[in-house]
This record gives sequence, C-alpha cells and structure tokens, in this order.
Amino acid sequence: MATKILKSSDSAYDFPLLIKQLLTSNQRFEQQNQIISGQHRYSYATLNERIKRLANTLKAAGIGPGDTVAVMDWDSHRYLECFFAVPMVGAVLHTVNIRLSPGQILYTMNHAEDDLVLVHNDFVPIIEGIRSELKTVRGYIQLSDDSSLTDTDFETIGEYESLLNQADTEYDFPDFDENSVATTFYTTGTTGNPKGVYFSHRQLVLHTLNMVNALSTRSSEGPLLSHDGVYMPITPMFHVHAWGIPYAATMMGVQQVYPGRYDPEALTRLVRDEQVTFSHCVPTILQMVLQSNAAADTDFSGWKILIGGSALTSGLASEAIELGIQPFSAYGMSETCPLMAITRMTREHFTLTPEAQLNRRIQAGTPGDLVDLQIWSPDGEQLPHDGKAAGELVARAPWLTQSYLHEPEKGDELWHNGWLHTGDIASIHPDGSVEIKDRIKDVIKTGGEWISSLELESLISTHPDVVAVSVVGVPDEHWGERPVALVISTNEEFTTESVSDHLQQYVSNGTINKWAIPKEVHLVSEIPKTSVGKIDKKLIRAQLSQD
Ligand code: AMP
Repeated sequence: MATKILKSSDSAYDFPLLIKQLLTSNQRFEQQNQIISGQHRYSYATLNERIKRLANTLKAAGIGPGDTVAVMDWDSHRYLECFFAVPMVGAVLHTVNIRLSPGQILYTMNHAEDDLVLVHNDFVPIIEGIRSELKTVRGYIQLSDDSSLTDTDFETIGEYESLLNQADTEYDFPDFDENSVATTFYTTGTTGNPKGVYFSHRQLVLHTLNMVNALSTRSSEGPLLSHDGVYMPITPMFHVHAWGIPYAATMMGVQQVYPGRYDPEALTRLVRDEQVTFSHCVPTILQMVLQSNAAADTDFSGWKILIGGSALTSGLASEAIELGIQPFSAYGMSETCPLMAITRMTREHFTLTPEAQLNRRIQAGTPGDLVDLQIWSPDGEQLPHDGKAAGELVARAPWLTQSYLHEPEKGDELWHNGWLHTGDIASIHPDGSVEIKDRIKDVIKTGGEWISSLELESLISTHPDVVAVSVVGVPDEHWGERPVALVISTNEEFTTESVSDHLQQYVSNGTINKWAIPKEVHLVSEIPKTSVGKIDKKLIRAQLSQD
C-alpha cells in the first residue's frame, strides 16, 4: 500500500526563516551586554533601534526589495547593522572585498549591480578612481569613525551617523520568501574574474542556528562562546560574513567588540582591555597577534580561538596553548557559507596526551550538524572513513551556494552528482574527524608519490626557530615536482640547512619520505598573502618560477 505523505500545507503553517528573526530574543531580553566599536559602546536595545533607523535611511535613499547595497568598511558596528538592516528590508547586502585591486572592486560592483554604496573615508579614493565606470550605482553614503568627513569629488547622501540620528526609530520589517537572496560577496578566486557567491535568508538562518549550536557544544570544558563571553571577530566582515559568527553572536546577545582596521598591536590591546573570550581568524592573523609587542604584557589565558581558512600548524597551535589560549579548528569555504566542520573535544579527548590533543585540535574538526561530508576517488567512488584513504572532500548541507551570481553555468564546476566538490583532498577518521591533506592544486607530485604541503608545513613549524612557513611544489626535471619552503625566523643564528636536519627525524620514523625534504629553503622576511590574509601559494609559485 502506498504511504500517504502529509504535506506541510495540510497541517503546519508557513513560517519563513528570515534574518529579522535572529533579533527576536535579544530584542526582548538582553539588558547587560553591549556592542563596542571605536568610540561607540551601546546596548542591544540601541542596536535594534539603530537597525530600524538604518532601514529608514535606506528607504529614504530609494532602496527597496531586490536592490543591492554595497558596503566598503572596516569591521565595525556599522557593518553589523548592515548585516541585518539591508537584508531585512528585502535588499541584497554586497560585502565588498576592499583588499582587491581597484579594477577588481569595479568588476565586482558592476557585476553585483550595486545600487547604493556605503563607503568609509579610507576607501573614498578608490571610489573616486572607479566612479565614472560604475554602471548601476545611484547614491553614496559616507562612513567615518569620528564623524569627520573627507572631501569627495562626488555627491553623497550624507554621513552615516548623522543620517541615522535624523531617521525614524520605527520600521515594520515585512515578511517575504525565505529563499530571497540576502547577501553576496566575491571569491578571491584562482584565475579570471572573481566569482560572486550568494546566500538566502533561509540559508543564513539555518547556518546561524547551526553555528550557535556548534559554539555551544564543541568542547566538554565549556562552550566556545556563551552569553557571558566577549566576542571579537578577526576575519574580515567582507569575507563570508566573518564566517557568519556576528549573526550567531547577535542572536546569543553576547558582548561584541568590532576591531576596525586590523593592526596587530591594537587587536592585542583589545583582547586584553575588553577581556575577549572568543575570536576567530586565519592562522596568519593569530601569528601576528602573538608576535606583537603588546603580546608581552597580555594574559591570553581563557581566550578561545577558532582557526580556519587554512590549516593550523602544530607549531602555532603549541605556541598558542603555551600562552593559555585554547585553539580550535574550523573548515569551510566561501561557497559553503562557510561552516562545514569544527573541532570537537569530548571528555575523553581531554584525557589524551598533550600531543594527541594537539593533533585533534589541528585537524579540521568533525562535520557540523546537517552537514554530510564524504571523500570520493577521482571516478566518483565513495572511499572509507578509516583515517587512511584520501580523496576529494564532497559536501551536502542546507547552506551551500547553488551556483555563482549571474553565472549559473559556473555552478556546474562546483556540483557533480548532487554533491558540492570542495577541491580539497582529505581523509576522514572513523570518529568523523576530517583531516585536510591539501588543496588538489597545491599537492606536490614527486617521483610518482604525492606529498601534502600542509603536512610538511606543520612539521617545519615545530622547528624551534621557525615563526612561519609555506611549502609549494616547483617543477623538477627528474621528479616532476619537488617541495620548496619559505620560512620566517626571528633567530639570527637560524640556518636554512637546519630545516632539513629537523625533518630527518620524521623521515626516520616514517612520517614522511625522504623526497619530502625541501629541495630549497628560502629565509624570507614576509610570505605573500591573499586579500583575506591567507598564504598565497599561487603567487609564491609564480615568484619562484621567476628566480
Ligand atoms: P575560501 O573560499 O577562500 O574561504 O577558501 C576555502 C579553502 O580554504 C578550502 O577549500 C580549504 O582549501 C581551505 N581551508 C579552509 N579551512 C581549512 C582548514 N581548517 N584546514 C585546511 N584548509 C582549510
């Protein structure tokens, strides 16, 4: 007999999942915690009021459903307000990557069809340079940290704070289809033009619920972030909505600190002075904070930090742990909103040796709830989760981007057989922990074997004099490719030969084969980074090929 499936229209009511609902609880209940950003320090009641004032300001600027609002700002309370107000009026928030070249910024703003631009004083020169070629922009609002305005050679609607001050405090945010696009931003990409990814209200709400759950449950020694915690993001708000964590932190009603422009000394002082308990960033930022002068008189104990976007090396994780920081790893990508996996530390894991605990923390974590991760062979066969087999990581979750903005055909590069293909090679351990081996394009193929550049970086990072390291494959006549390492060291006695000596122990114990010993080690003062602060291996390979 055929089973009768009861459709939702037969019973439950249709309740759209909209970003405005993330504000419901803190609007009613949060009394004590604040939003802190530069000179601003205000309550959740004020945040809610300011979001309504901003909505009225947007309306007065002619913005309505379907329009796109671009933001060019440092990480600030204004950005947080835009995260809510812009999608809540039915418009699309374009978080502009201000680290791209002016030409690429122009491309993204035309491609996203931006209608209104909120631009910080510091980025006015960029707009002045590209303004005549911006095809769809109808107006500009100026953003300033101290209400001082730089002169512009273009007309603006006014300055953000004064426009908000004049705006009405009431706004009735409408209901609409939960599948409406809420946000868009551009991948920092590989070749060609940046590609726009986009997320709906429904996806962001589900992602936020999942993030709140992950932050609350991933460590048996207490949540990464709780209502009593203090949150400061250190991943730019233009990149994957700062991993969507500002939405989660706001829904939880926690104290939030927005650091403005990233300056390692200022970031460290904020951690100390505001008693920050939880942050997230790429490994290079953590390194900069730990190396800052202010770090010497900062007690980092109690700071939980979620590292993602690139692999956390053993060396950096040990350094952090010695300072009392609890590092956790997260794995995701622009196309995945981004949460796919986060470290899980159970009571049992806390009884492991320090080395085994560290190993757990530097793996990419176990999948988030509702996230299904598999590893596939090149011909699409599912590989076992035995911690040994390695294949391309593929994903399913409710918040993955379907395709790229205005370029639906490019979604085919991402999706095959109903699974999003990450372009990363991984193993999955029997307990679900994901170990990212490398990006497919960064794997070093040498003498018929492949070497994980990430594993090699992690081993080199444990050299006592190495502060930072990057490993790439360079073409080699005999072996196809050989690894080359770039290292930063602050010890004047450091010799590049000592890296090979250090790695010999891992050859002897079978962790790596002898071909993994880098062909060359370059001592450098800086390692090239991408616009989102990750190590730029493409650029390193290009630079090495010119040497
Ligand atoms: P993006 O889209 O620029 O955020 O980059 C996403 C890529 O960053 C992923 O496909 C991975 O290659 C890399 N990535 C992110 N998180 C991790 C992690 N925890 N460990 C290793 N690689 C990571």
